Amino acid sequence: MTDIGAFNEKLVLQTIRSAPQGIGQSDVVRLSHLSRQAVSLITRRLMADGLVEQAGRRISGPGKPHTLLRVVADARLAIGVHLDPAHIAVVICDLAARPVARTTLAPPTEDPRADLERVAAAIAELSRSLGASVPAPGEGEPSTHRRLLGIGIAAPAGLDADAGILRDPPWIPGWRDVPVVDALSAVTGLPATLDKDTNAALTGEIWSRHLETSQTVLYMYVGHGVGSAVSGGGRVHRGGTTQAGEIGHLPIGRADQHCICGRHGCLCLYTDAHVLVGAAHDAGVEVSESSGTTAALEALSAAAAAGSAPARDIIGSHAGALGEAMRILAGVHDPQRIIIGGPTWPALRDVGEAEVRDALGDWLASSGGVVESSHLGDDVGAIGAASLFLEQELAPGTVAPGTA
Ligand SMILES: [Zn+2]
Repeated sequence: MTDIGAFNEKLVLQTIRSAPQGIGQSDVVRLSHLSRQAVSLITRRLMADGLVEQAGRRISGPGKPHTLLRVVADARLAIGVHLDPAHIAVVICDLAARPVARTTLAPPTEDPRADLERVAAAIAELSRSLGASVPAPGEGEPSTHRRLLGIGIAAPAGLDADAGILRDPPWIPGWRDVPVVDALSAVTGLPATLDKDTNAALTGEIWSRHLETSQTVLYMYVGHGVGSAVSGGGRVHRGGTTQAGEIGHLPIGRADQHCICGRHGCLCLYTDAHVLVGAAHDAGVEVSESSGTTAALEALSAAAAAGSAPARDIIGSHAGALGEAMRILAGVHDPQRIIIGGPTWPALRDVGEAEVRDALGDWLASSGGVVESSHLGDDVGAIGAASLFLEQELAPGTVAPGTA
């Protein structure tokens, strides 16, 4: 098969991929800065491998019409695993980061070995449902183009991405020093990579939407806790130890609450999911936690939609704090686009988005920037995880952490 590890092949593939409606070969030459001969040769190889196909012809001016090229989205597949305190999500995505199969498992327990067996069983089941095949060593051309490339794993902070190990993720007790990359690779025979859920979510946005790589994008991740991620030039900025964007203890200028870190007004005091659920209980809004935190927040959101003033106030206060943090971060990072997402944001956005826009009013007016909610929904962590692997495998010049 085509060696999609080669830089020029990745560059051509990315150029074609970024035009889902189809792109002429001369445009690929212009945008990739490769020679016409190189693009022609690589395109033929990609087509022979089923990764690229003709997408009709376009007539522009005199001369013969251009043949348009596009990526065959389901030619390769990647698995995404999101280890979240509220659930474990497993998806299989195509090359456009669209989920073609998905399942949600019960949250992580204090037995990581058993949990990873559940994940491996889910991967096997989803793969079978698609007729996907794991390439065996020395295998020739695939009998089917449904090929699994590998696994991306997204998890809360407290991880060593380079080593592929979860060190001490918050809210997932019992998962201490768990080598998730090696463990899932061993049982599936597929390569795997690990990153923070925040970075995965932003990678999912960039990959699935072909966001302009010239843009600086700030992502606000709303889950059990709140985190941020920033990209420039199409790459997520991970920091020296993959800890960039740990903003839980960012002071947001309030003095009414004291934090365990010794300071006042830390963001997490107003935005951690359990804070919202606790406030709902205190205010007499009926939210049951028996089905998990996400369900409790959905109940809070439903109460707000039904006209409960306390429910609206609680979500509004959360979003106000979020907006204040985003205003500070917008000043630090100077983004052109701010995206809010994460597993619990879909439950909060109906009330919360207007509050966030309010808090960002000055920034919106002065920067001309865009603020929007993620379109990836509550599967954003798993879709992002799959995107991490796609990016590592298929984007030119990527050096990804935590690869087995
Ligand atoms: Zn603090």
